[in-house]
Amino acid sequence: MIGLSQPEFLPASREEMAALGWDELDVLLVSGDAHVDSHAFAAALLGRWLVAHGWRTGIISQPAWDGPAAVAALGRPRLFAGVSAGAVDSLVAHYTAFRKKRTDDAWSPGGKSGLRPNRAVIVYAGLLRQAFPGLTVVAGGIEASLRRFTHYDFWSDSLRRSILLDAKLDAVLYGMGEKSILGLAELLALLPAGRKPVQAIAAARLPGSVYAAHPDDVPKRAAELPSHEAILADPALLVKATLACERQVLNGGPALIQRSGGRALIFEPPAELLSGAEMDALYSLPFNRRAHPSHAEPIPAAAMLEGSLTSHRGCGGGCSFCSLAAHQGRIVQSRSRESILAEVTRLAGSPDWKGVVTDIGGPTSNLWGAECVGDPKTCRRDSCLYPKRCRHLHPNQEGQTELFAEVARLPGVRQVRAASGVRHDLAIESEVYLKALINNHVGGQLKIAPEHVSDKVLRLMRKPPVRLWNEFIRSFERLSREAGKEQYIVPYLMSAFPGCGDQEMRELAEWLKRRGWRPEQAQCFLPTPGTLAAAMFFAGVDADGRPIAVARSDADRLRQHRILMPEARPDPRIPAKPGKRRKPFAKGRRPPAKTGRRPPPGTGRRLGSTGNRRS
Ligand code: SF4
Repeated sequence: MIGLSQPEFLPASREEMAALGWDELDVLLVSGDAHVDSHAFAAALLGRWLVAHGWRTGIISQPAWDGPAAVAALGRPRLFAGVSAGAVDSLVAHYTAFRKKRTDDAWSPGGKSGLRPNRAVIVYAGLLRQAFPGLTVVAGGIEASLRRFTHYDFWSDSLRRSILLDAKLDAVLYGMGEKSILGLAELLALLPAGRKPVQAIAAARLPGSVYAAHPDDVPKRAAELPSHEAILADPALLVKATLACERQVLNGGPALIQRSGGRALIFEPPAELLSGAEMDALYSLPFNRRAHPSHAEPIPAAAMLEGSLTSHRGCGGGCSFCSLAAHQGRIVQSRSRESILAEVTRLAGSPDWKGVVTDIGGPTSNLWGAECVGDPKTCRRDSCLYPKRCRHLHPNQEGQTELFAEVARLPGVRQVRAASGVRHDLAIESEVYLKALINNHVGGQLKIAPEHVSDKVLRLMRKPPVRLWNEFIRSFERLSREAGKEQYIVPYLMSAFPGCGDQEMRELAEWLKRRGWRPEQAQCFLPTPGTLAAAMFFAGVDADGRPIAVARSDADRLRQHRILMPEARPDPRIPAKPGKRRKPFAKGRRPPAKTGRRPPPGTGRRLGSTGNRRS
């Protein structure tokens, strides 16, 4: 890798740029997260990656949005600016499942909410256009990626068109952005005078990009998604469009087109995945894991991730509500054992080291090293694990067990924990893995996400059937007993999922009662943009177009939630009983709720443990 030397922090001020001898930036990254030099903060990850490839990159984090001054602080970049709302969609970061304003934000100094605007991508892109007219502005990250096509927006209870148009972006770079952002930098550095950046992006067919084109000037052999206007008229088409985008990420093509308001949006096939060697190179960059000195208060997410390593990306589970899998894709990309051991050795040599590796994981802990030995390009499945493991998916749980044992033997390491979610249907396939997990890597409580016990609901979630969940519990209890350990499972459960009714919630409550389990926290379904589950919530049909019952009103959702969590306090804003239908099914809005009353975001009182931070 030929590049610039890596600074202690990527510059966040003119003084820091001057100290590096940089009179201008090539690329400016604007992020809704705090500036933490960690692999878990995308601006730092992509910024160091760009610097490693020779591009001078600076970061403006959480700029004030009352004018363009804050985003202009580092001057006009030579090539382009990239904006991101941060690690989560800004509206998920700000509001609970009942649209109650959150008071905390783990990705901000002091854990305070409100340091990024709602719809941060649109706001930051607007500020950059004011500050630097004519500058190429692109967006990436979860918010931009999952809002790249027509999507249901829970907070305005409406369908929204692509964020590319709403934010007036030159392009969206979707998915994990290392290759597409490098490709863009190379393209714009060679841009001939008089040529527009979007023309260059279109001519190069930049993988992983979305851009707008003239409706008559679209790539040949592209597949048409239902247009924005067609989806407004027929909500069931949203499910089809969402599935097509999900499959494009897995299958790698062809390009997709969505027509919207007289424009044609082109979704180029995804960027190539990083190879194992590239993953190793990326994660061996010298992240110092500290917050930039400009932050006076600690950042909770940085503290939580202090002793944690990313070992892989991607998740074959394909859960229909998970935006992480929709963003990272289903194919798992793993770092090598050597790269992980080297990172732990580096960590253990730092003065603040406490001796505990708090996690070595990814979206699903036990998928490190998993490989698809089939051909994803021709794969027609929507999950590699549901309803049962695809024969082409080769997990490597024994290899992971050995890796954890090797890490535990490194000097300075007292304990290695697995804090990322464990896929229980996979775990029960390997007694060796499960035994090591239970004996050595569970800190008394193991968090598992069965989400439900009704097979009807689990099918819609693409989650393992309850039979496998019961089998996992039996194995967990037996192995804990044999190890002489008193350990508990903390299950993640969800109410009000599309297709789930009061009957299914009672089934779940009775199942818990039979086991003597009392959940401390459960999540009320939050339809996150761009996911299949959000499309099903809006359209009232499943992935095959069959009608499903959906608890749409807050009253119905709260009632379901209270079957599980009877102590959840009723919100005075939400009627105790469903009221009358007030509006007919209008264009672009969801089908009518049983109650018409819906408060604006951020008003009303706290509703107890109903919100969730999972995106
Ligand atoms: S072939 Fe099997 S393992 Fe490979 S992507 Fe398809 S479902 Fe997953």
